[in-house]
Amino acid sequence: MTSQDIRNKFLNFFEGKKHLIVPSAPMVLKDDPTLMFVNSGMAPFKEYFLGNAEPKQNRIADSQKCLRVSGKHNDLEEVGYDTYHHTLFEMLGNWSFGDYFKREAIAWAWELLTEVYGINKDILYVTVFEGSDDADNLKMDQEAYDLWKTFIPEDRILKGNKKDNFWEMGEQGPCGPCSEIHVDIRCAEEKAKVDGKSLVNMDHPQVVEIWNLVFMQYNRKANGSLESLPNKHIDTGMGFERLCMVLQGVQSNYNTDVFTPIIREVEAITNKDYGKDEKVDVAIRVISDHVRAVAFSIADGQLPSNTGAGYVIRRILRRAVRYGFTFLDKKEPFIYRLVDVLSKKMGTAFPELKAQKQLIENVIKEEEASFLRTLEQGLILLNRIVEETKGNTVSGEKAFELYDTYGFPIDLTALILSEKNLKLDEKGFEKHLQVQKDRSRKASEMSTDDWTILIDDAEQEFIGYDALESNVKITRYRKVSSKKDGDMYQLVFNLTPFYAEGGGQVGDKGYLQDVHGDTIYIVDTKKENNVIIHFTKSLPEHINETFKAVVDAKQRYRTECNHTATHLLHQALREVLGTHVEQKGSAVHSKYLRFDFSHFSKLTIEELRDVENFVNSRIEGKLPLEEKRNVPKDEAIADGAMSLFGEKYGDAVRTIRFGQSIELCGGTHVKNTGDIWHFKITSEGAVAAGIRRIEAITNDAVKDFYFENNRAYFEMRDLLNNSKEPIKALKSLQAENADLKKQIENLLKDKAKNIKGELKSELTEINGVKFLAKKLDLDAGGIKDVCFELGSQFDNLFLLFGAEHNGKAVLSCYISKELVASKDLNAGAIVRELGKYIQGGGGGQPFFATAGGKHPAGIEEALNAGKAYIE
Ligand code: ATP
Ligand code: MG
Repeated sequence: MTSQDIRNKFLNFFEGKKHLIVPSAPMVLKDDPTLMFVNSGMAPFKEYFLGNAEPKQNRIADSQKCLRVSGKHNDLEEVGYDTYHHTLFEMLGNWSFGDYFKREAIAWAWELLTEVYGINKDILYVTVFEGSDDADNLKMDQEAYDLWKTFIPEDRILKGNKKDNFWEMGEQGPCGPCSEIHVDIRCAEEKAKVDGKSLVNMDHPQVVEIWNLVFMQYNRKANGSLESLPNKHIDTGMGFERLCMVLQGVQSNYNTDVFTPIIREVEAITNKDYGKDEKVDVAIRVISDHVRAVAFSIADGQLPSNTGAGYVIRRILRRAVRYGFTFLDKKEPFIYRLVDVLSKKMGTAFPELKAQKQLIENVIKEEEASFLRTLEQGLILLNRIVEETKGNTVSGEKAFELYDTYGFPIDLTALILSEKNLKLDEKGFEKHLQVQKDRSRKASEMSTDDWTILIDDAEQEFIGYDALESNVKITRYRKVSSKKDGDMYQLVFNLTPFYAEGGGQVGDKGYLQDVHGDTIYIVDTKKENNVIIHFTKSLPEHINETFKAVVDAKQRYRTECNHTATHLLHQALREVLGTHVEQKGSAVHSKYLRFDFSHFSKLTIEELRDVENFVNSRIEGKLPLEEKRNVPKDEAIADGAMSLFGEKYGDAVRTIRFGQSIELCGGTHVKNTGDIWHFKITSEGAVAAGIRRIEAITNDAVKDFYFENNRAYFEMRDLLNNSKEPIKALKSLQAENADLKKQIENLLKDKAKNIKGELKSELTEINGVKFLAKKLDLDAGGIKDVCFELGSQFDNLFLLFGAEHNGKAVLSCYISKELVASKDLNAGAIVRELGKYIQGGGGGQPFFATAGGKHPAGIEEALNAGKAYIE
């Protein structure tokens, strides 16, 4: 059975059980402060479990892209070394939101595995929660036990503890017992030796968990206690790659058709074989795994970068590059070449891969190249460190510096050192690393109090598309403290006109006012799990009263101008440059807008003009806003709306149309493009391979821009004596300047010539050496000229010159080559020695060397010492 069939069978099976099949949600999360990437199938449905939103359908099934590389679930270091943990993997899941419960979940899981997929019952084990005698005092999950025993002999039902069999979403929220299904795919011989039961949950590579069925029946309250949920839910997650391993009768996820095409390609590119040498195998697994994680992230709009989610992606890719570099001898980019097979293999199930293939390749290639340069640079530095190391241990501090400043990975340092028979002071390294970690943790330390609930269960309503002020009640609040922002308060209202940061648009600012006239400023608005949170520096005194909440209208209006202009800019770019242009990120502020998009070359001045003209013509056309709320996503796409990454099933989509520009967008906009007044691009440049960035301004900011430019222009004219043609005047100034430079150069040359004449007559002969030591009024270049000029005229020459420049001293020493040979003299060693007198040092070649120092008064002494030396 191919992996494609296996995935389809899962989805078809649950479709047959009346589930709605939805595509995977994006893996990169934008509006969740607690999570960067989707790390389990349930993450996209979190709001339904938390009760913040209602699903349209109470049975859903899907295959969700998951990434486990940070936070609570982090499998990164395992990947490559074992055969069944990946960074990116697919989690097949079926969901019941308050609909069916344990009976159906267990029966269907069994039916699917044993009847549809035909897995032999004798290789399966299941687990149930054994109960806990801690504060929760939970009973064993007898219900699940009894259900399982109708399918499987009781000696294959194992009891598990809280760690393995009680699932919690977080500190608070829905939770419950779970049942895991494990497979034992060892050969008969092995099975005879060790009982499979004893290997369940013991990290055995052939006795692995494939499916986890979570029965959400409790809610963990803020005070830590559990209450029964009125609506019980089912959340299941089955590892797709592990399922393929079982069904394809292989012993490793990497031997399934999910991975073999990629592995074959790595073999072809690197000329190495998989399965011969464990080190090579680990590297090949790492690379085959990581290219998927990186490619899917880029397709989801997350490019490698220096912070946050982007940094996580960068680190994954660098890990792959490093393994290729060290174990597969790949010193040039090659991982990007795997994207082709990957998109052929997965492009049907995940069309975003196919659509963005070219971009993914470009970005990966560029990242690889730049990291390989870092590695090369790091190797040079490491060699220097090795040279300077006395004894056989390289200090932890040096290794840390290499790691911290140059991004040179520590394991690579250790490996290279071990090849040179050197040791690394790992403890010292760890110490420095810890100091740095503590420092950054302290800087970002944040404490969050529990919510204080004032009004329970109040549904929050957003009215900010239609109103900028309204009467509101505060339903809950909490304090958050951090070093960076000090104490802040987060307030939630029953309804709010404040737009929360999202979709690139900044959050609203404004104020709250009570009937006593007290005012509290709202400094920012953000969203957390769909709840709109208002930030203030203090708490209102009469917190239970009704407040007037007022949005800063001016800031909102300017932001709206920029947001609408962003849509027009997107449309303009596709019109002027082509439909390969896709949005890759945007930031809509009140003062400016920023738009990142895929395109392969710098925009010409004409293209920029065409883009500006296009947008401005739409502004002049006074196009009205046509807004549709709560449209099904498919309908919106059919209308021609441009779908950006970021939506998932169930998102309330809203379409924003101005003329021919239609986009899915949750942001706020002007009522008419005419309100924007004018659009001006202020900069265009590259952000990453194949990604360009435009920054632009609208409305008042354009007026300021022209005013400031005009001011600069007039100031320049002033400086140019009020010239009517400032450019001409500037050009003639430049020409004059160049002329003067030439003249000075010539004068200096003449001077040097004269000096040479004088110097010839000053040469004295000491012990067969033509000698001169003197202080000159020439720059370093001039002195060098003089030395070589005299050197071409005389044999057996020894020259020592001093000069003073900007308070610094320079010594230059020239020795004829035959002297160097016959008398074993070395100008480099001599200036190094004489450098003492001018409090500095230097070096060079045996026949010419210079030293610099900060003590010009020592020049005479140095010259005398030189003379004494020759004498
Ligand atoms: P394990 O103990 O094997 O790491 P888990 O307890 O972390 O698994 P769950 O969080 O219950 O797993 O996830 C549900 C299913 O997803 C697992 O049964 C497994 O099949 C699969 N899975 C989990 N982590 C990974 C991973 N890193 N790579 C591939 N599949 C995974
Ligand atoms: Mg795990």
